Amino acid sequence: MSTQSSSTAAKISTFVFMIVLLVMALSLVSFALAVNAFALGEDIVAAYLVVIGVIALALSTYVLLQSRRRMTTMKLATPSMMTTIECRKCGFKSVREFQRGDYVFKELDKCQKCDDKMIITAISKEVKEKEKTFPF
Ligand SMILES: [Zn+2]
Repeated sequence: MSTQSSSTAAKISTFVFMIVLLVMALSLVSFALAVNAFALGEDIVAAYLVVIGVIALALSTYVLLQSRRRMTTMKLATPSMMTTIECRKCGFKSVREFQRGDYVFKELDKCQKCDDKMIITAISKEVKEKEKTFPF
């Protein structure tokens, strides 16, 4: 599962990288055209082209930095440990995020339904799904 998500992320980054390269190439072209226009005595046109080139270069750099930052946050967010808690008496089951000190067969607070003690039955690594996020 983790390899699949990382390959998707790699595909996205390659796509972003291609766009960034394209914009950088366009900015270089506008710089070249600016030099050409300046040589021809078209000062205003040259100035416009320089401005366009600078904006394009700044935008592509910004996108590159932003995508890199997003990649690191994505990598940090994907794997999460989940703890499954079960009531031995009534079978009430709940899953919550792993907390420090959790271990299998650890006794926890009383069950919400029957007041019997609940125990941890499983600790698993899970990829967070959008359906599982709380609506608030
Ligand atoms: Zn119970």
